[in-house]
Amino acid sequence: MNDSHHSTARFDGAPPEDLLRQAAGYLRAYDLPTDLGETALSATFSEAWVTLELDGAGFSLDIRAGNSAQLHQAREGVLVVLDQISPETCAALEWQGEVARNVRPPNFHLGTVLDVRRVSANFLRVAMRCEGICNLLSGGMHFSLLLAPGPVPRWPEVNDKGRTVWPDGADKLHRAAYTFVELNPEEGWFTFDVFEHEGGQTTGWAKAAKPGDTVGIMGPGGGDFPQADHMVMGGDETALPAIRRILEHAPTDRRGEVFVETADPADRCDMPLPEGMRLTWLRRGEDEPLLEHMLAATLPGPGESRFVWLAAEAGIVRAARRHFREEAGLGREEMYLSAYWTA
Ligand SMILES: Cc1cc2nc3c(=O)[nH]c(=O)nc-3n(C[C@H](O)[C@H](O)[C@H](O)COP(=O)(O)OP(=O)(O)OC[C@H]3O[C@@H](n4cnc5c(N)ncnc54)[C@H](O)[C@@H]3O)c2cc1C
Repeated sequence: MNDSHHSTARFDGAPPEDLLRQAAGYLRAYDLPTDLGETALSATFSEAWVTLELDGAGFSLDIRAGNSAQLHQAREGVLVVLDQISPETCAALEWQGEVARNVRPPNFHLGTVLDVRRVSANFLRVAMRCEGICNLLSGGMHFSLLLAPGPVPRWPEVNDKGRTVWPDGADKLHRAAYTFVELNPEEGWFTFDVFEHEGGQTTGWAKAAKPGDTVGIMGPGGGDFPQADHMVMGGDETALPAIRRILEHAPTDRRGEVFVETADPADRCDMPLPEGMRLTWLRRGEDEPLLEHMLAATLPGPGESRFVWLAAEAGIVRAARRHFREEAGLGREEMYLSAYWTA
């Protein structure tokens, strides 16, 4: 564990009621692993580690990470949670150690379009030169793409209190999450795939993008490779790049099933599949829906190394969450069920 970057905060006074339990609730809602004790709460933010500890005089926060971007990102996450519990307490925190102030956020990078090409009927692949790409190599396979509304972008900045301030009004940025396809740190570029859908701002941007156009990149944005021996995976077009990356990193002896649902069979692509996994392509509107396949898939029993991974439209994910949590009784650490878009 590389935790060479470090910041701490102190609050003296009566902490908000039930602070640890409330904070644990918010962190778990973001699917972050937490450990809640009598007087301390610890949480893991991808590659940053946070401890909140109560004492007789107030509480202390300790955040450690492998680089400045991950430290800043975890600190922002903690502040978002504390703001929801008690904005006054959050504002009164005294921060020490490495805290970015009056700069671009350490997890912000400028991206310059190198090339856009069609990879299948409804997917465009964007190649992007990216400053500071080394900071994107760990901390997850996703990032946020920031698109400016006009030709002169205003990017986010960190204020003198160490909080990221986002441009608003006419300067408001469009923000959407994407998944790295390939990262090449030696040459300083990465690629990602945009699924073209009706009314999508990113779709419109990608169709018109030219070499030299600039965008903002916020990341790394989480998204780990699950480690289980047996996996049931599923997703729609938006999840296809993530499923492909997880399969690329899968151990060769992994077992399980993968379901990918697309509206157009022409978007099916080669998938690197371990021998013990079976891939089923589904055609939306014609085959039995993705959700039915996910719910019917066979999983090993409790105590065995198993994992359910699903990313799709929010309603499908909600129904899957109900089933796997409440009926199948899977623990949080045994699943990743994420809404990648909302209809
Ligand atoms: C962690 C994560 C990783 C992701 N990775 C990828 C990726 O690698 N490639 C990719 O293409 N997408 C990916 N997505 C999904 C993508 O972020 C969303 O589809 C997002 O809405 C696209 O933004 P937009 O600017 O195109 O659409 P917006 O302008 O935000 O939305 C406009 C309209 O499009 C609708 N819409 C959004 N997505 C779809 C869809 N798939 N089908 C039909 N209508 C839709 C919305 O309901 C909205 O009404 C990912 C999402 C997450 C959370």
